[in-house]
Amino acid sequence: MDFERVGLGMPTVASAAPGAGLRDQFGRVATDMRLSLTDKCNLRCTYCMPEAGLDWLKKDKLLTAAEIVRLVGLGVRNLGVRELRLTGGEPLVRADLVDIVAALRRNHPELPISLTTNGVGLAKKARALADAGLTRLNVSMDTLHHDAFLQLTRRPFLDQVLAGIEAADAAGLRPIKINAVLLRGVNEDHAAELLAWCLDRGHELRFIEQMPLDADHGWTREGMVTAAEIRALLSTDFALTTDPRARDGAPAERFEVRRHGSEQLLGTVGIIASVTEPFCADCRRTRITAEGKVMSCLFSRTEVDLLELLRAGDSPADDDAVAARWQDAMWAKPKAHGMGHPGLGDADFVQPDRSMSAIGG
Ligand code: SAM
Ligand code: SF4
Repeated sequence: MDFERVGLGMPTVASAAPGAGLRDQFGRVATDMRLSLTDKCNLRCTYCMPEAGLDWLKKDKLLTAAEIVRLVGLGVRNLGVRELRLTGGEPLVRADLVDIVAALRRNHPELPISLTTNGVGLAKKARALADAGLTRLNVSMDTLHHDAFLQLTRRPFLDQVLAGIEAADAAGLRPIKINAVLLRGVNEDHAAELLAWCLDRGHELRFIEQMPLDADHGWTREGMVTAAEIRALLSTDFALTTDPRARDGAPAERFEVRRHGSEQLLGTVGIIASVTEPFCADCRRTRITAEGKVMSCLFSRTEVDLLELLRAGDSPADDDAVAARWQDAMWAKPKAHGMGHPGLGDADFVQPDRSMSAIGG
């Protein structure tokens, strides 16, 4: 899309000052690093991946554990990164995941390190991840119904996910956040039930509006379940009131949850309205793909390669050069992603080439 034409202002000169952190030309500073560990996944969620999977990156194209540790170190020491989320693809399929977490924890004793996972195989690894120093987990689970789970993920692994959540809880990785995407006609009627299940167990449920990041390019605005609809779906069973705590740049709008007619606070629920109520103005994210490319935004169509610097033959780049390229990439972060913003229709929006699994959600 033509950002200049619609007033979203792509930069003409990249010029973040040394020591300024990951600043962009609109005054935002990225402190929240999302690092994808792999593009591979063992599920095929319809809103993310195609049924046949994608061409996986070759192993030698992926960031190694040592490169990951170096990039995170650079982000934390030189560029003001304050929290880290490991994601993918499915990060649990990476055999060296526990070692990566342990190495990051050794180097950064205070850094919040979280993981977003689909939960398949988590039962076996939850304890080791907790022992390695993982701070917390988000587990994606869109329904408690086996048939809908199969329809959504194209894999019959709901019981594994449930066992994973239980194991993470037992390992002390609390509070567990549960991420759910609702698809019309598939699981939207399961929203209130999922919330009740999470509240009973002390898990924090967050609904994410479906974004046009599916490899099949099947997203439509009419098809997506909006944040307003999600609030209405939950309101049949629960009374929602805005959480008085400051949102503080968090993507989810949080609501306190009570039963109708009761004062008793049962917990909270979050709704991430990336499409209908975008929070671009407060975005603090910097993303690095599994092959070491900086993406300043989930919807970015521009990628900046750090891996080629890390691996530059006999003379790999020093930290300052890598940091400068990362800063330049973030300086170019667009003002907004182009959906749901005044003056912009869907026709102005061009879906990125990468699916969510290949970006790192
Ligand atoms: N495989 C892991 C998982 O599913 O949790 C981590 C990667 S996944 C891409 C991260 C998050 O992105 C998940 O919570 C998933 O539900 C969400 N997601 C994937 N595709 C999406 C889409 N098109 N719109 C909204 N959320 C999406
Ligand atoms: Fe895999 Fe996560 Fe994408 Fe589902 S959302 S296909 S689990 S990467």
